[in-house]
Amino acid sequence: MKKKKFNFYWIYVILTVVLFALYFTGKDETKQEDIEMGQLIELLQKGEVSKIELINKETAEVYLADNSRTPRYTYRIGSLERFEETVEKVQEESGIEKPIYITNVERKSWGLDLLFTWILPLVFVLALWFLFMRGMGRGSMGGGGQIFNIGKSKAQLFDKDNVPVNVTFKDVAGLEEAKVEIMEIVDFLKNPDKYTKLGGKIPKGVLLVGPPGTGKTLLAKSVAGEANVPFFSISGSDFVEMFVGVGASRVRDLFNNAKQKSPCIIFIDEIDAIGRARGKNPINGGNDERESTLNQLLTEMDGFGTNTGVIVLAATNRADILDKALMRAGRFDRQIYVELPDIVGRREIFEVHMRGLKLAPDVDREFLAKQTPGFSGADIANVCNEAALMAARKGKEAIDKQDFLDAVDRIIGGLEKKNKIITADEKKVIAFHEAGHATTSWLLQYAHPLVKVTIVPRGKALGAAWYLPEERQITTKEQLYHEMIATMGGRAAEQVMFGQISTGALSDLEKVTKQAFAMVTYYGLDEEIGNLSFYDSTGQQEYSLTKPYSEKTAETIDQQVSKLVEKAYQEAVSILSSHKEGLTMLANKLIEKEVIFGDDLEVIFGKRPWDTDTKEENHEG
Ligand code: ADP
Ligand code: ZN
Repeated sequence: MKKKKFNFYWIYVILTVVLFALYFTGKDETKQEDIEMGQLIELLQKGEVSKIELINKETAEVYLADNSRTPRYTYRIGSLERFEETVEKVQEESGIEKPIYITNVERKSWGLDLLFTWILPLVFVLALWFLFMRGMGRGSMGGGGQIFNIGKSKAQLFDKDNVPVNVTFKDVAGLEEAKVEIMEIVDFLKNPDKYTKLGGKIPKGVLLVGPPGTGKTLLAKSVAGEANVPFFSISGSDFVEMFVGVGASRVRDLFNNAKQKSPCIIFIDEIDAIGRARGKNPINGGNDERESTLNQLLTEMDGFGTNTGVIVLAATNRADILDKALMRAGRFDRQIYVELPDIVGRREIFEVHMRGLKLAPDVDREFLAKQTPGFSGADIANVCNEAALMAARKGKEAIDKQDFLDAVDRIIGGLEKKNKIITADEKKVIAFHEAGHATTSWLLQYAHPLVKVTIVPRGKALGAAWYLPEERQITTKEQLYHEMIATMGGRAAEQVMFGQISTGALSDLEKVTKQAFAMVTYYGLDEEIGNLSFYDSTGQQEYSLTKPYSEKTAETIDQQVSKLVEKAYQEAVSILSSHKEGLTMLANKLIEKEVIFGDDLEVIFGKRPWDTDTKEENHEG
């Protein structure tokens, strides 16, 4: 259906040709010889001149008797009076009866004139038009680029005749609570009479709130799939165009289309692109276009009757920055939280995505779920796909556990770069750096226990340590502090062993600085600052411009952050200094094996006395 688009670079070509043509025709017109007064007099005397035209009282154009269409010569006039006198005198003297007209002509240089009054504006308009069309063409799917479609919504429609929705609840793992809430909507779409008979009202809008990749789109689609209704999918940013009124017109078009297909579902991804709170931006006083788009959305949602059968689902990862008007009754009055999956959820997501895969018997979903804390559904889908690719690359019959583990590593850290050139000295530094992280985290009660350390470079990182974070909802100051020490352990090891530090700690320092800053300014964990938090959950203050605290407090914050980081570093140095032997053994083992696991640390440092349960249990890989 995609039309062949007119290539707009042609406009440039045409313009260039036109300009060149003008240039040369202009040249052609002035293809006249300049002559001296003497020559002119001679011509006059011979009677060859038919007419002299005076242009702007500056030049005289001399027309010859034979071809009177264009002047043959031009003469630049010094003094007008003298020129006229001379011409008259010569004419008299030579006794020419046929009068030679000296006509006064006012003439603007027509080339420049044309350029300014015609060509430049034309070029400008064409250029604008060109940019405009390009803007339109970009991002719109199929048939884009037509100026007439600008106000049309760009929603993608899934329905029986088009692309059927092939997702149902069984494709959505975990998210049990969300499913329960959303079930009601499915039921309504299936049997609207049941509700309307009793006068019940079904929410018109539901907001799905959660981090990216947690399955919000999937969930919305599955509602359409379950209820077997059409599904309009659009992203908030698709409404936004640089022309005022376009967004609003697209919203109108979308709802019109939806009403015709009712019952149906409209899904708006990234609704924050239009739904951000209005008029809170202190710099430019808000964005008119976005606001008018949002207003139109609100109007549409208020406008359609409760039971027209159009339900709007919208996704965002930050409900707090949305305009409160969006959440009012009759609009998105329901919010469903879609969180990152916990260990059970992850196991189920693995199950869903392993359905179509050929697995070796050693693949253990439970174990994989444990290895992937913090992974979103999308990450896990990615792991499964990556594992399949790896197995295929190695020509295996089935995908085994190691493929999955490699895939996990790869998702975390990028591809292994086995052939990145690292000198023996560098390797030693990296090994001690990573061993420093491993040692400190092993010896600190509240740091996350280590799972694996490697010095195989991956992506940008030269080495990496994996920890198994406990899934905790609140974190104590002590836990945060211990984590900071472990993060500083890399640099501290370099200091302790080599007496010099390197640039290799960049990402550690970044992490630790952010952590310390958050502790001081957000979590109220600093004695000097006290129980204050400068965190703004509404996201509606532009703190980058105006700080909510005084200069003096700012200084204190800087001081405390720096003190905290320094303290953590000194602590790491002191731990490693007193365990130099273990550290060295560990680093040597790393150099030798490149990858070590929790068990290896246990051999060197002994069991962690605080670990009651077996955290590093099934790590044989
Ligand atoms: P979001 O809209 O929240 O950013 P998506 O719904 O687009 O995330 O999820 C992207 C992909 O991740 C899905 O297509 C699916 O393959 C996978 N996924 C995410 N969450 C789940 C889940 N709970 N169950 C199964 N697959 C999931
Ligand atoms: Zn490090």
